[in-house]
Amino acid sequence: MLRYLILDILLPLLVFALLRSFLRGIFQTRRDVTRPSQQASPPSRPNVVAGGELKKDPVCGTYVSAGASVTRTVNGELLHFCSKECRDKYRVVG
Ligand SMILES: [Zn+2]
Repeated sequence: MLRYLILDILLPLLVFALLRSFLRGIFQTRRDVTRPSQQASPPSRPNVVAGGELKKDPVCGTYVSAGASVTRTVNGELLHFCSKECRDKYRVVG
């Protein structure tokens, strides 16, 4: 009698746990595939095409595309840098 109880409860639970981990694995794989790429685009300008707009690096003077640049907000103004090094330099200067 007790054995039947165990079989009736534990077996479905085991199957359920296996199914859940199986489904979770599928969903995690899908989430990895459909995960959006890490593109740092300014949220205030959704219409900007990545790489279409050129911004001048205030440190070294290089023109970088807004989509690929390293951005930093200084006094409410969004600045674009060609690299993290330039961004850090600007912090030292400014
Ligand atoms: Zn630079």
